[in-house]
Amino acid sequence: MRTWEEIREDFPILKEKIHGKDLIYLDNAATTQLPQQVLDCFVEHYTKYNANVHRGIHYLSEQSTMHMEAVRNKLKDFLHAENQGEIIFTSGATDSANLVAQSFLRHVLQPGDVVLSTELEHHANFVVWQQVCQECGAEFRMIPTVDGELDMDAAHKMLSDKVKLLAVTAVSNVTGTVVDIETLIAWAKEYEIPVYIDAAQAVRHRTFDLAGLQCDFLGFSAHKMMGPTGVGCLFVREKWLNEMQPYRYGGGMIDIVTEEKTTFAELPARLEAGTPNYSGIITWGAALDYLMDIGIERMASYEEELIKKAEEVLEAIPQVNILGHPKQRAGCISIQIDGVHPYDFASMIDKYGVAVRTGSMCAQPIVNKMGLDTVIRISPAFYNTMEEMKKLGEYTEKVIAFFERIKR
Ligand code: PMP
Repeated sequence: MRTWEEIREDFPILKEKIHGKDLIYLDNAATTQLPQQVLDCFVEHYTKYNANVHRGIHYLSEQSTMHMEAVRNKLKDFLHAENQGEIIFTSGATDSANLVAQSFLRHVLQPGDVVLSTELEHHANFVVWQQVCQECGAEFRMIPTVDGELDMDAAHKMLSDKVKLLAVTAVSNVTGTVVDIETLIAWAKEYEIPVYIDAAQAVRHRTFDLAGLQCDFLGFSAHKMMGPTGVGCLFVREKWLNEMQPYRYGGGMIDIVTEEKTTFAELPARLEAGTPNYSGIITWGAALDYLMDIGIERMASYEEELIKKAEEVLEAIPQVNILGHPKQRAGCISIQIDGVHPYDFASMIDKYGVAVRTGSMCAQPIVNKMGLDTVIRISPAFYNTMEEMKKLGEYTEKVIAFFERIKR
């Protein structure tokens, strides 16, 4: 088994110097870095078999198509889905949610229906549903949180026959809260409510065995799991597939086209109009191999140790307030620092080579609930080290001391 030190060596970007300092990359909830094996796959694709997919019968097109479809199969295995047709390629988690909203939800929502999301969500799993509700005269409601944890009693009470979709994240991109999606799905099933799981953050922190976990839709992005940007996946459980109407029209998704009418291709092609990002999809395949080789569970448990270390060093600094106290945290931790604006903090700690994120994290409802409009987010990945967590603590103290000095 390769050590974490050996695995870290796979990531060329981690050898970069930032303002003359070693890079400490702690912005993995925004996007992750790519190992050499994945970069090599991209180069190999463009060097040896680049051609548009599904459209030609020449050798290169067949190769390209075969490699792309192999990734659909890999994703099917990764999610323990029943068949490849349940895997739709999208441009990312945002696109996955929009596809469900436009292809499915818009066609079933009636005035007076309810769509439930939560206060913990990224805007991609919130605004999408809210807007469709507004267009269809349906009611959009948000399950509240308490100290960064979903209020499960409230969630239970809000479920009813009127609810036409429950959309919930498996892991928050602000507090790192691990949501008990198993219980929510079981409750939703009592009312036959379809459930959309936003797995964008969770996908590196837990396995999704969709043979057991009975969600109906699940979306995530390649770029948060060591793959390229611009590619993602929407899992649609087979029983909903035929309910999905095409909403993007063009090449690749049609059967017969005449002036009078058009008939559409079989699924999943019907939902994948235009040239897909096949080079990205193929490269994502190498990232999936890479992650599965390490093992999601091994990775998740090491990342949990890193998060605990980050929590420990930050908790020891009196001016630092950790946002939310969920029972279980994965992937990220957000903080606020008394007397130091998040943007000042981030630009100052950047000078030590440390990359952290600031802003509303595309999740204004939960950030506002905490009484804030911007926060600082720290999100390690398995290529980070315990030593880097200690340095995060040291540099945070230095930045705070600097701002306290200049205020005097
Ligand atoms: N949901 C969550 C929880 C996220 O963290 C993100 C990305 N920050 C998204 C959805 C959207 O992902 P993308 O921007 O890749 O579409």
